[in-house]
Amino acid sequence: MEKPKKLRAVLLSSPGMGHLVPVIELGNRLVADNGFEVTIFILPLQASLAEAEIIESVMTPKLLDIVELPPPDLSAVGLGPDAAVVTRLAVMMRESRQAFRSALAAMEAWPDVLIVDLFGTEHLCIGDELGIPRYAYVATNAWFLALLLHLPTLDKEVKGEYVDRTEPLEIPGCKLVRPEDVVDPMLDRSDQQYREFVRLAGEIPMGDGILLNVWEDLQAETLAALRNEELLGRVANSPVYTVGPLIRPVRPAVLGKELLEWLDKQPSDSVMFVSFGSGGTLSAEQLVELAWGLELSQQRFIWVLRQPTVKSLDGSYFDVGKGGVGDGVLSFLPSGFTARTRDIGFILPSWGPQVEILSHPSVGGFLSHCGWNSTLESIANGVPMIAWPLYAEQRLNATLLTEEIGVAVRPKVLPSKKIVGREEIEKLVRTVMVEKEGHTLRARVRELKSSAQKAVAEGGSSYGSLSKMKEDCKMMIRQIKQAH
Ligand code: UDP
Repeated sequence: MEKPKKLRAVLLSSPGMGHLVPVIELGNRLVADNGFEVTIFILPLQASLAEAEIIESVMTPKLLDIVELPPPDLSAVGLGPDAAVVTRLAVMMRESRQAFRSALAAMEAWPDVLIVDLFGTEHLCIGDELGIPRYAYVATNAWFLALLLHLPTLDKEVKGEYVDRTEPLEIPGCKLVRPEDVVDPMLDRSDQQYREFVRLAGEIPMGDGILLNVWEDLQAETLAALRNEELLGRVANSPVYTVGPLIRPVRPAVLGKELLEWLDKQPSDSVMFVSFGSGGTLSAEQLVELAWGLELSQQRFIWVLRQPTVKSLDGSYFDVGKGGVGDGVLSFLPSGFTARTRDIGFILPSWGPQVEILSHPSVGGFLSHCGWNSTLESIANGVPMIAWPLYAEQRLNATLLTEEIGVAVRPKVLPSKKIVGREEIEKLVRTVMVEKEGHTLRARVRELKSSAQKAVAEGGSSYGSLSKMKEDCKMMIRQIKQAH
Protein backbone atom coordinates (compact mmCIF):
# COMPACT_ATOMS: atom_id res chain seq x y z
CA MET A 1 0.00 0.00 0.00
CA GLU A 2 1.19 3.50 -0.77
CA LYS A 3 2.32 5.53 2.24
CA PRO A 4 0.06 8.56 2.91
CA LYS A 5 1.69 11.76 1.67
CA LYS A 6 3.13 13.97 4.39
CA LEU A 7 1.67 17.45 4.79
CA ARG A 8 4.14 20.21 4.12
CA ALA A 9 3.92 23.21 6.43
CA VAL A 10 5.64 26.52 5.85
CA LEU A 11 6.19 28.66 8.95
CA LEU A 12 7.20 32.31 8.87
CA SER A 13 8.91 33.89 11.89
CA SER A 14 9.46 37.59 12.52
CA PRO A 15 12.92 38.67 13.75
CA GLY A 16 13.89 38.37 17.40
CA MET A 17 14.77 35.51 19.72
CA GLY A 18 11.46 35.68 21.54
CA HIS A 19 9.65 35.19 18.24
CA LEU A 20 11.93 32.62 16.70
CA VAL A 21 12.06 30.23 19.68
CA PRO A 22 8.32 29.35 19.79
CA VAL A 23 8.10 29.09 15.99
CA ILE A 24 10.95 26.58 15.94
CA GLU A 25 9.35 24.60 18.74
CA LEU A 26 6.02 24.56 16.90
CA GLY A 27 7.89 23.28 13.85
CA ASN A 28 9.48 20.53 15.93
CA ARG A 29 6.08 19.41 17.29
CA LEU A 30 4.52 19.42 13.82
CA VAL A 31 7.31 17.13 12.62
CA ALA A 32 7.71 14.88 15.66
CA ASP A 33 4.09 14.44 16.77
CA ASN A 34 2.14 15.02 13.58
CA GLY A 35 4.35 13.82 10.76
CA PHE A 36 4.53 17.13 8.89
CA GLU A 37 7.44 18.21 6.74
CA VAL A 38 8.34 21.69 7.91
CA THR A 39 10.25 24.61 6.43
CA ILE A 40 10.72 27.71 8.58
CA PHE A 41 11.47 31.01 6.92
CA ILE A 42 13.15 33.51 9.17
CA LEU A 43 14.28 37.08 9.02
CA PRO A 44 17.36 36.96 11.20
CA LEU A 45 18.63 39.88 13.21
CA GLN A 46 21.99 40.36 11.60
CA ALA A 47 25.05 39.35 13.60
CA SER A 48 23.00 37.80 16.37
CA LEU A 49 25.25 35.12 17.82
CA ALA A 50 22.49 34.01 20.16
CA GLU A 51 20.11 33.39 17.28
CA ALA A 52 22.75 31.57 15.28
CA GLU A 53 23.37 29.35 18.28
CA ILE A 54 19.66 28.52 18.66
CA ILE A 55 19.33 27.73 14.97
CA GLU A 56 22.44 25.57 15.12
CA SER A 57 21.02 23.64 18.07
CA VAL A 58 17.79 22.73 16.27
CA MET A 59 19.67 21.57 13.22
CA THR A 60 21.08 18.61 15.14
CA PRO A 61 19.28 16.28 14.73
CA LYS A 62 17.84 17.94 11.66
CA LEU A 63 14.06 17.68 11.98
CA LEU A 64 13.15 20.68 9.90
CA ASP A 65 14.51 23.08 7.32
CA ILE A 66 15.35 26.65 8.24
CA VAL A 67 15.71 29.14 5.42
CA GLU A 68 16.96 32.67 5.99
CA LEU A 69 15.28 35.29 3.85
CA PRO A 70 17.57 38.07 2.61
CA PRO A 71 17.53 41.15 4.85
CA PRO A 72 14.94 43.62 3.55
CA ASP A 73 16.14 46.87 2.04
CA LEU A 74 14.74 49.43 4.44
CA SER A 75 16.51 52.45 2.94
CA ALA A 76 13.62 53.17 0.56
CA VAL A 77 10.91 53.15 3.23
CA GLY A 78 12.45 55.85 5.40
CA LEU A 79 12.46 53.94 8.65
CA GLY A 80 14.10 56.29 11.15
CA PRO A 81 16.56 55.02 13.76
CA ASP A 82 14.04 55.90 16.46
CA ALA A 83 11.19 53.86 14.99
CA ALA A 84 9.46 51.81 17.69
CA VAL A 85 9.95 48.04 17.90
CA VAL A 86 6.54 47.09 16.46
CA THR A 87 6.96 49.55 13.58
CA ARG A 88 10.37 48.09 12.79
CA LEU A 89 9.07 44.53 12.93
CA ALA A 90 6.00 45.33 10.82
CA VAL A 91 8.01 47.18 8.18
CA MET A 92 10.70 44.49 8.01
CA MET A 93 8.05 41.82 7.51
CA ARG A 94 6.19 43.90 4.89
CA GLU A 95 9.34 44.63 2.92
CA SER A 96 10.16 40.91 2.87
CA ARG A 97 6.96 39.88 1.16
CA GLN A 98 8.48 39.64 -2.31
CA ALA A 99 11.47 37.68 -1.03
CA PHE A 100 9.10 35.30 0.77
CA ARG A 101 7.03 34.78 -2.39
CA SER A 102 10.17 34.06 -4.42
CA ALA A 103 11.45 31.66 -1.76
CA LEU A 104 8.16 29.79 -1.80
CA ALA A 105 8.23 29.58 -5.58
CA ALA A 106 11.74 28.12 -5.38
CA MET A 107 10.66 25.31 -3.04
CA GLU A 108 10.89 21.82 -4.48
CA ALA A 109 7.31 21.04 -3.57
CA TRP A 110 4.18 23.14 -3.09
CA PRO A 111 3.32 23.75 0.59
CA ASP A 112 0.02 22.47 2.02
CA VAL A 113 -0.35 24.95 4.85
CA LEU A 114 1.02 28.35 5.85
CA ILE A 115 1.54 29.45 9.47
CA VAL A 116 2.68 33.01 10.20
CA ASP A 117 3.49 34.59 13.53
CA LEU A 118 1.90 37.70 15.01
CA PHE A 119 3.91 40.13 12.89
CA GLY A 120 3.46 38.13 9.71
CA THR A 121 -0.31 38.52 9.33
CA GLU A 122 0.11 40.59 6.16
CA HIS A 123 1.44 37.38 4.60
CA LEU A 124 -1.76 35.42 5.27
CA CYS A 125 -2.90 36.55 1.80
CA ILE A 126 -0.05 34.48 0.31
CA GLY A 127 -1.93 31.44 1.60
CA ASP A 128 -4.93 32.62 -0.42
CA GLU A 129 -2.76 33.09 -3.51
CA LEU A 130 -1.48 29.52 -3.13
CA GLY A 131 -4.95 28.20 -2.32
CA ILE A 132 -3.87 26.60 0.97
CA PRO A 133 -5.11 26.88 4.59
CA ARG A 134 -3.34 29.55 6.62
CA TYR A 135 -3.04 30.10 10.34
CA ALA A 136 -1.83 32.82 12.68
CA TYR A 137 0.42 31.70 15.53
CA VAL A 138 0.13 34.11 18.45
CA ALA A 139 2.93 32.65 20.56
CA THR A 140 1.74 34.18 23.80
CA ASN A 141 -1.26 33.93 26.12
CA ALA A 142 -5.05 34.18 25.94
CA TRP A 143 -5.26 37.55 27.77
CA PHE A 144 -3.04 39.09 25.15
CA LEU A 145 -5.12 37.56 22.37
CA ALA A 146 -8.36 38.78 23.97
CA LEU A 147 -6.99 42.33 24.17
CA LEU A 148 -5.69 42.10 20.62
CA LEU A 149 -8.97 40.84 19.16
CA HIS A 150 -10.89 43.54 20.99
CA LEU A 151 -8.52 46.31 19.93
CA PRO A 152 -10.31 47.32 16.72
CA THR A 153 -13.44 47.89 18.87
CA LEU A 154 -11.49 49.82 21.51
CA ASP A 155 -9.94 51.89 18.74
CA LYS A 156 -13.41 52.97 17.62
CA GLU A 157 -14.98 53.43 21.04
CA VAL A 158 -12.27 54.88 23.28
CA LYS A 159 -11.37 58.51 22.90
CA GLY A 160 -7.93 59.83 23.89
CA GLU A 161 -4.98 57.85 25.14
CA TYR A 162 -5.67 54.51 26.87
CA VAL A 163 -3.07 55.29 29.53
CA ASP A 164 -4.82 58.54 30.49
CA ARG A 165 -8.04 56.74 31.43
CA THR A 166 -9.01 56.49 35.05
CA GLU A 167 -11.27 53.50 34.41
CA PRO A 168 -9.87 50.10 33.39
CA LEU A 169 -10.54 48.69 29.94
CA GLU A 170 -13.24 46.06 29.68
CA ILE A 171 -12.19 43.15 27.50
CA PRO A 172 -14.88 40.49 27.17
CA GLY A 173 -13.94 37.37 29.11
CA CYS A 174 -10.78 38.92 30.48
CA LYS A 175 -10.20 40.52 33.87
CA LEU A 176 -10.38 44.31 33.59
CA VAL A 177 -7.17 45.64 32.05
CA ARG A 178 -5.60 48.50 33.96
CA PRO A 179 -4.68 51.37 31.63
CA GLU A 180 -1.02 51.13 32.78
CA ASP A 181 -0.93 47.46 31.75
CA VAL A 182 -1.76 47.98 28.07
CA VAL A 183 0.83 46.69 25.63
CA ASP A 184 3.56 49.06 24.42
CA PRO A 185 2.07 49.82 20.99
CA MET A 186 -1.09 51.04 22.73
CA LEU A 187 0.77 53.62 24.83
CA ASP A 188 0.79 56.34 22.17
CA ARG A 189 -2.02 56.33 19.65
CA SER A 190 -0.28 58.87 17.43
CA ASP A 191 2.73 56.59 16.86
CA GLN A 192 2.96 54.49 13.69
CA GLN A 193 3.36 51.34 15.80
CA TYR A 194 -0.18 51.81 17.16
CA ARG A 195 -1.65 51.85 13.63
CA GLU A 196 0.41 48.79 12.71
CA PHE A 197 -0.85 47.02 15.82
CA VAL A 198 -4.52 47.83 15.13
CA ARG A 199 -4.02 46.57 11.57
CA LEU A 200 -2.56 43.26 12.63
CA ALA A 201 -5.23 42.90 15.32
CA GLY A 202 -7.79 43.06 12.53
CA GLU A 203 -5.86 40.56 10.40
CA ILE A 204 -5.38 37.87 13.06
CA PRO A 205 -8.91 36.41 12.78
CA MET A 206 -8.76 36.38 8.97
CA GLY A 207 -6.88 33.10 8.84
CA ASP A 208 -8.35 29.63 9.27
CA GLY A 209 -7.41 29.45 12.94
CA ILE A 210 -5.27 30.89 15.70
CA LEU A 211 -2.59 28.90 17.53
CA LEU A 212 -1.79 30.01 21.08
CA ASN A 213 1.22 29.11 23.23
CA VAL A 214 -0.78 28.10 26.33
CA TRP A 215 -2.62 25.00 27.46
CA GLU A 216 -6.28 24.67 28.38
CA ASP A 217 -5.86 24.39 32.18
CA LEU A 218 -3.70 27.50 32.39
CA GLN A 219 -6.35 29.94 31.16
CA ALA A 220 -9.61 28.02 30.95
CA GLU A 221 -11.85 31.05 31.56
CA THR A 222 -10.33 33.36 28.97
CA LEU A 223 -10.18 30.56 26.43
CA ALA A 224 -13.88 29.90 26.97
CA ALA A 225 -14.55 33.59 26.35
CA LEU A 226 -12.47 33.57 23.16
CA ARG A 227 -14.64 30.74 21.89
CA ASN A 228 -17.96 32.14 23.11
CA GLU A 229 -19.88 33.87 20.33
CA GLU A 230 -21.60 36.16 22.81
CA LEU A 231 -18.27 37.42 24.07
CA LEU A 232 -15.20 37.53 21.88
CA GLY A 233 -16.40 34.87 19.46
CA ARG A 234 -18.14 37.58 17.49
CA VAL A 235 -14.79 38.95 16.39
CA ALA A 236 -12.80 35.74 16.40
CA ASN A 237 -14.56 33.42 14.01
CA SER A 238 -11.52 31.25 13.61
CA PRO A 239 -10.92 28.33 15.98
CA VAL A 240 -8.36 28.81 18.76
CA TYR A 241 -5.90 25.91 19.11
CA THR A 242 -3.94 25.79 22.37
CA VAL A 243 -0.64 24.11 21.59
CA GLY A 244 1.64 25.08 24.50
CA PRO A 245 3.78 25.25 26.37
CA LEU A 246 6.13 25.13 23.41
CA ILE A 247 9.55 25.81 24.89
CA ARG A 248 13.12 24.99 24.02
CA PRO A 249 14.31 21.60 25.25
CA VAL A 250 17.11 21.53 27.81
CA ARG A 251 20.63 20.93 26.44
CA PRO A 252 22.71 20.31 29.59
CA ALA A 253 26.01 20.65 27.74
CA VAL A 254 25.54 24.37 27.15
CA LEU A 255 25.69 25.19 30.88
CA GLY A 256 29.47 25.04 30.79
CA LYS A 257 31.73 23.41 33.37
CA GLU A 258 32.17 26.36 35.72
CA LEU A 259 28.49 27.24 35.99
CA LEU A 260 27.41 23.61 36.30
CA GLU A 261 29.91 22.97 39.07
CA TRP A 262 28.75 26.09 40.90
CA LEU A 263 25.07 25.14 40.54
CA ASP A 264 25.73 21.56 41.65
CA LYS A 265 27.25 22.88 44.88
CA GLN A 266 24.17 24.92 45.90
CA PRO A 267 21.25 23.50 47.91
CA SER A 268 17.95 22.75 46.10
CA ASP A 269 15.69 25.69 45.32
CA SER A 270 18.24 28.12 46.77
CA VAL A 271 19.29 30.21 43.75
CA MET A 272 17.42 33.22 42.35
CA PHE A 273 17.96 33.58 38.61
CA VAL A 274 17.86 37.18 37.36
CA SER A 275 17.40 37.89 33.67
CA PHE A 276 15.42 40.28 31.48
CA GLY A 277 14.99 38.34 28.24
CA SER A 278 16.80 38.87 25.01
CA GLY A 279 16.57 42.64 25.00
CA GLY A 280 15.67 43.98 28.43
CA THR A 281 17.91 46.53 30.09
CA LEU A 282 17.76 48.57 33.31
CA SER A 283 18.82 52.13 33.99
CA ALA A 284 22.17 52.57 35.76
CA GLU A 285 20.37 53.66 38.94
CA GLN A 286 18.04 50.64 38.89
CA LEU A 287 20.95 48.32 38.28
CA VAL A 288 22.66 49.58 41.44
CA GLU A 289 19.46 49.15 43.50
CA LEU A 290 19.04 45.61 42.17
CA ALA A 291 22.61 44.75 43.12
CA TRP A 292 22.06 46.06 46.65
CA GLY A 293 18.71 44.29 46.91
CA LEU A 294 20.26 40.96 45.95
CA GLU A 295 23.13 41.44 48.37
CA LEU A 296 20.87 42.48 51.25
CA SER A 297 18.59 39.47 50.69
CA GLN A 298 21.55 37.18 51.42
CA GLN A 299 20.17 34.72 48.90
CA ARG A 300 22.19 32.99 46.21
CA PHE A 301 21.80 34.34 42.68
CA ILE A 302 22.79 34.04 39.04
CA TRP A 303 22.49 37.35 37.21
CA VAL A 304 22.55 37.87 33.44
CA LEU A 305 24.05 41.33 33.66
CA ARG A 306 23.65 43.73 30.78
CA GLN A 307 25.02 47.21 30.30
CA PRO A 308 22.51 49.80 31.58
CA THR A 309 20.57 51.88 29.14
CA VAL A 310 19.74 55.52 29.03
CA LYS A 311 17.28 55.19 26.17
CA SER A 312 14.59 52.57 26.41
CA LEU A 313 13.85 49.45 28.43
CA ASP A 314 13.99 47.26 25.33
CA GLY A 315 17.47 48.71 24.81
CA SER A 316 19.22 45.81 23.13
CA TYR A 317 16.27 44.09 21.44
CA PHE A 318 17.75 44.50 17.98
CA ASP A 319 21.37 44.02 19.09
CA VAL A 320 21.07 40.87 21.13
CA GLY A 321 24.11 38.65 21.08
CA LYS A 322 26.21 41.16 19.20
CA GLY A 323 29.65 41.07 20.73
CA GLY A 324 30.68 43.72 23.19
CA VAL A 325 27.37 44.29 24.97
CA GLY A 326 28.83 42.88 28.16
CA ASP A 327 32.19 44.64 28.01
CA GLY A 328 32.92 46.55 31.16
CA VAL A 329 29.49 45.86 32.60
CA LEU A 330 30.90 45.10 36.05
CA SER A 331 31.93 48.73 36.41
CA PHE A 332 28.25 49.68 36.79
CA LEU A 333 27.87 47.62 39.97
CA PRO A 334 28.31 49.12 43.43
CA SER A 335 31.90 49.21 44.52
CA GLY A 336 33.00 45.92 46.10
CA PHE A 337 29.79 44.07 45.09
CA THR A 338 31.47 41.20 43.26
CA ALA A 339 33.96 40.64 46.08
CA ARG A 340 31.29 40.69 48.78
CA THR A 341 28.96 38.33 46.87
CA ARG A 342 31.70 36.04 45.56
CA ASP A 343 30.38 33.02 47.45
CA ILE A 344 26.69 33.50 46.75
CA GLY A 345 26.55 35.07 43.31
CA PHE A 346 27.40 34.16 39.73
CA ILE A 347 27.40 36.86 37.06
CA LEU A 348 26.90 36.09 33.38
CA PRO A 349 27.64 39.10 31.18
CA SER A 350 24.81 39.87 28.72
CA TRP A 351 23.57 36.33 27.91
CA GLY A 352 23.08 33.01 29.70
CA PRO A 353 21.75 29.51 28.99
CA GLN A 354 18.36 30.28 30.51
CA VAL A 355 16.41 27.06 29.98
CA GLU A 356 19.30 25.01 31.31
CA ILE A 357 19.67 27.24 34.37
CA LEU A 358 15.94 27.16 35.15
CA SER A 359 15.87 23.39 34.89
CA HIS A 360 18.68 22.92 37.43
CA PRO A 361 17.34 21.72 40.83
CA SER A 362 19.30 24.41 42.71
CA VAL A 363 17.30 27.20 41.07
CA GLY A 364 14.32 28.23 43.18
CA GLY A 365 13.25 31.64 41.87
CA PHE A 366 13.30 33.73 38.71
CA LEU A 367 13.35 37.51 38.67
CA SER A 368 12.06 37.95 35.15
CA HIS A 369 10.85 40.59 32.70
CA CYS A 370 7.87 38.26 32.03
CA GLY A 371 8.42 37.73 28.32
CA TRP A 372 6.10 34.86 27.45
CA ASN A 373 8.88 32.40 26.59
CA SER A 374 10.63 33.13 29.89
CA THR A 375 7.34 32.76 31.73
CA LEU A 376 6.62 29.37 30.17
CA GLU A 377 10.19 28.22 30.81
CA SER A 378 9.80 29.16 34.47
CA ILE A 379 6.42 27.45 34.89
CA ALA A 380 7.53 24.34 33.00
CA ASN A 381 10.42 24.02 35.45
CA GLY A 382 8.30 24.71 38.53
CA VAL A 383 10.12 27.96 39.40
CA PRO A 384 8.14 30.81 41.08
CA MET A 385 8.82 34.32 39.85
CA ILE A 386 9.33 37.96 40.71
CA ALA A 387 7.51 39.73 37.90
CA TRP A 388 9.54 42.71 36.69
CA PRO A 389 7.87 43.78 33.43
CA LEU A 390 9.74 46.18 31.15
CA TYR A 391 8.25 46.44 27.65
CA ALA A 392 5.99 44.87 24.96
CA GLU A 393 3.12 42.92 26.59
CA GLN A 394 5.06 42.20 29.79
CA ARG A 395 2.96 44.40 32.11
CA LEU A 396 -0.12 42.43 31.12
CA ASN A 397 1.74 39.16 31.66
CA ALA A 398 2.91 40.32 35.11
CA THR A 399 -0.68 41.00 36.17
CA LEU A 400 -1.79 37.65 34.79
CA LEU A 401 0.97 35.84 36.71
CA THR A 402 0.39 37.61 40.02
CA GLU A 403 -3.38 38.10 40.06
CA GLU A 404 -4.79 35.17 38.10
CA ILE A 405 -2.30 32.34 37.78
CA GLY A 406 -0.70 32.88 41.21
CA VAL A 407 2.94 32.05 40.53
CA ALA A 408 4.60 35.43 41.06
CA VAL A 409 5.01 38.46 43.30
CA ARG A 410 5.89 41.90 41.99
CA PRO A 411 7.01 45.38 43.03
CA LYS A 412 4.27 47.75 44.24
CA VAL A 413 4.85 50.24 41.41
CA LEU A 414 5.74 49.23 37.85
CA PRO A 415 9.53 49.22 37.35
CA SER A 416 8.98 51.17 34.13
CA LYS A 417 7.42 54.00 36.17
CA LYS A 418 9.63 54.25 39.22
CA ILE A 419 12.95 52.91 40.46
CA VAL A 420 12.35 49.87 42.67
CA GLY A 421 14.39 50.45 45.83
CA ARG A 422 16.87 48.00 47.37
CA GLU A 423 14.71 47.27 50.46
CA GLU A 424 11.72 46.33 48.33
CA ILE A 425 13.90 44.10 46.15
CA GLU A 426 15.40 42.46 49.23
CA LYS A 427 11.87 41.76 50.49
CA LEU A 428 10.65 40.37 47.15
CA VAL A 429 13.62 38.02 46.89
CA ARG A 430 13.16 36.79 50.46
CA THR A 431 9.40 36.38 49.92
CA VAL A 432 9.97 33.97 47.04
CA MET A 433 12.99 32.16 48.48
CA VAL A 434 12.28 31.83 52.21
CA GLU A 435 8.88 33.18 53.29
CA LYS A 436 5.62 31.26 53.62
CA GLU A 437 4.14 33.08 50.61
CA GLY A 438 7.01 31.71 48.55
CA HIS A 439 6.05 28.16 49.54
CA THR A 440 2.50 28.79 48.31
CA LEU A 441 3.80 30.14 44.99
CA ARG A 442 6.12 27.16 44.66
CA ALA A 443 3.34 24.67 45.32
CA ARG A 444 1.12 26.36 42.72
CA VAL A 445 3.84 26.53 40.06
CA ARG A 446 4.67 22.85 40.63
CA GLU A 447 1.01 21.97 40.04
CA LEU A 448 1.18 23.88 36.77
CA LYS A 449 4.47 22.23 35.84
CA SER A 450 2.75 18.89 36.02
CA SER A 451 -0.37 20.07 34.16
CA ALA A 452 1.91 21.51 31.44
CA GLN A 453 3.75 18.19 31.12
CA LYS A 454 0.43 16.34 30.76
CA ALA A 455 -0.86 18.84 28.18
CA VAL A 456 1.99 18.29 25.72
CA ALA A 457 2.30 14.54 26.26
CA GLU A 458 0.47 12.12 23.97
CA GLY A 459 -3.21 12.21 24.92
CA GLY A 460 -2.89 15.68 26.52
CA SER A 461 -4.94 18.76 25.58
CA SER A 462 -2.22 20.59 23.62
CA TYR A 463 -1.11 17.41 21.86
CA GLY A 464 -4.75 16.83 20.91
CA SER A 465 -5.25 20.44 19.84
CA LEU A 466 -2.37 20.30 17.37
CA SER A 467 -3.67 16.97 15.99
CA LYS A 468 -7.09 18.58 15.65
CA MET A 469 -5.55 21.46 13.73
CA LYS A 470 -3.94 18.91 11.41
CA GLU A 471 -7.28 17.15 10.84
CA ASP A 472 -9.09 20.46 10.23
CA CYS A 473 -6.34 21.40 7.85
CA LYS A 474 -6.68 18.14 5.89
CA MET A 475 -10.42 18.65 5.64
CA MET A 476 -9.91 22.16 4.31
CA ILE A 477 -7.39 20.94 1.75
CA ARG A 478 -9.97 18.39 0.53
CA GLN A 479 -12.64 21.09 0.33
CA ILE A 480 -10.34 23.43 -1.59
CA LYS A 481 -9.50 20.60 -4.03
CA GLN A 482 -13.19 19.74 -4.54
CA ALA A 483 -14.03 23.39 -5.19
CA HIS A 484 -11.54 23.51 -8.06
N1 UDP B 1 17.21 33.80 26.56
C1 UDP B 1 18.33 33.06 26.85
N2 UDP B 1 19.34 33.67 27.52
C2 UDP B 1 19.32 34.97 27.91
C3 UDP B 1 18.16 35.73 27.61
C4 UDP B 1 17.13 35.12 26.94
O1 UDP B 1 18.40 31.87 26.53
O2 UDP B 1 20.29 35.44 28.51
C5 UDP B 1 16.09 33.15 25.85
C6 UDP B 1 15.00 32.76 26.83
O3 UDP B 1 15.26 31.48 27.37
C7 UDP B 1 13.76 32.83 25.97
C8 UDP B 1 14.08 33.93 24.97
O4 UDP B 1 15.49 34.07 24.95
O5 UDP B 1 13.56 31.61 25.29
C9 UDP B 1 13.46 35.27 25.37
O6 UDP B 1 12.10 35.26 25.07
P1 UDP B 1 11.04 36.03 25.95
O7 UDP B 1 9.72 35.85 25.29
O8 UDP B 1 11.09 35.61 27.35
O9 UDP B 1 11.47 37.54 25.95
P2 UDP B 1 11.90 38.58 24.79
O10 UDP B 1 13.33 38.36 24.58
O11 UDP B 1 11.06 38.31 23.58
O12 UDP B 1 11.61 39.91 25.43
